[in-house]
Amino acid sequence: MIKQKIEQIRGGKLSAEDNITYFINKIKKDNPKINSVLHVNPDAVKQAIEIDKKIKNGKKAGKLAGIGFIVKSNINVKGLIINCASKTLENYKGTYNASVIDRLLKEDAIIIGMSNMDEFACGSSGETSAFGFCKNPRSIDRIPGGSSSGSAASVAADFCDFSLGSDTGGSIRNPASHCGVVGYKPSYGAVSRYGLIDLAMSFDQIGPLANDVQDCQIIFDIIKGKDENDPAAIDYKSEKKDSIKIGILEVKGDKKIIDKIKNKTEKVSKDNKYNYDKISLNNVDLGIQTYYPIVYVEFFSGTRKFDGRKYGKKIEDSAGVEVLRRIVGGGKISKAEFAGKYYRRALTAKRIIEEEFNNAFKKVDIIIMPTVPKLPHKIGEKISVEDMYNYDTLTVLANIAQIPAISIPCGEIEGLPVGLQILAKKGNDDFLLDISKKFE
Ligand code: GLN
Repeated sequence: MIKQKIEQIRGGKLSAEDNITYFINKIKKDNPKINSVLHVNPDAVKQAIEIDKKIKNGKKAGKLAGIGFIVKSNINVKGLIINCASKTLENYKGTYNASVIDRLLKEDAIIIGMSNMDEFACGSSGETSAFGFCKNPRSIDRIPGGSSSGSAASVAADFCDFSLGSDTGGSIRNPASHCGVVGYKPSYGAVSRYGLIDLAMSFDQIGPLANDVQDCQIIFDIIKGKDENDPAAIDYKSEKKDSIKIGILEVKGDKKIIDKIKNKTEKVSKDNKYNYDKISLNNVDLGIQTYYPIVYVEFFSGTRKFDGRKYGKKIEDSAGVEVLRRIVGGGKISKAEFAGKYYRRALTAKRIIEEEFNNAFKKVDIIIMPTVPKLPHKIGEKISVEDMYNYDTLTVLANIAQIPAISIPCGEIEGLPVGLQILAKKGNDDFLLDISKKFE
């Protein structure tokens, strides 16, 4: 859809100003109900008018001229409020642009606003935001998923052409699944993390959420690749494949969801003459136990800078329960006497899971499973910490193995959108995106 819109804007059939004004009016009308946007960019329309002038005067316009996007509130944008949906950073304004932002602005995309999220990206439901729950536009009394809740809900609510999220253990794919949009987590290192406020830097990736796979691909092509500000960012080259073999991973979860994903995979495979088979991995059930200790430790260490001196308030005095749980837990696990017990064991488990995926990708080209193994709960419904963490059972795996993964809408169950998740070998991002189009 972005491709067609860019053609319209370049061809003078639609102005950038009208495109952006439409979104801003829609946010004014519907955001009080959805709460997916925390701050609107006050200069968005002015910036759109400048782009229209550029096009009218025959000057070279960027690849995304006039396209509007919403940014997760943990990605730095100069002059806008980057609060991570936390009281800790309540009025904190970005002092520089993250690399992804610079790349998108260089192509004349326009920032519409900053999105709501789980506080410091800790959560799977959007409920840990200090600025109110974000609602699911597809089912208003349900959670939209998280932690990029507002980024997913904003695409679903038609507040933007696309949005940016961050994914440490599923935070792009999980809300994409619940809100019925496409969410893409690139291979670790495929996109620069410069300017992202970390949850856990060895897992975090920035990626796009959009209405379809092609839109995600267009955005990925612009934000990906080497960056002198992030030594971990590299240029990957995808493999080319002549015949495709799909592995449907055996997982635990809601049978209705699992069957739906399996049926869809079988149908697409038959239609496209792909080989497919069930596969099983020994240690996928250990994903959550592996992921959380590592996140706790890295998050604890990353938040030591929020001591109230340089940025905002002291985090221990101002953050919510889930953030505090991780700081206290991470602090404990980091103590020398416990290090071998939790953190080092988690790192060992990480290597084992990574190895299992490496071996699996010697036999199959892509692996398919549900994005989330259960349906989203009602907003405000009390669920245990374990149940909350279990939303991530199937998404943390790609972060642990550092591989690319996408969530694509796969119909509905009980009126709620369900996402199909596709994973590929590390670095095979372009291949993954190409094949994902067949599943739409
Ligand atoms: N829900 C997971 C967590 O709370 C994932 C978060 C994320 O990917 N940012 O850690």
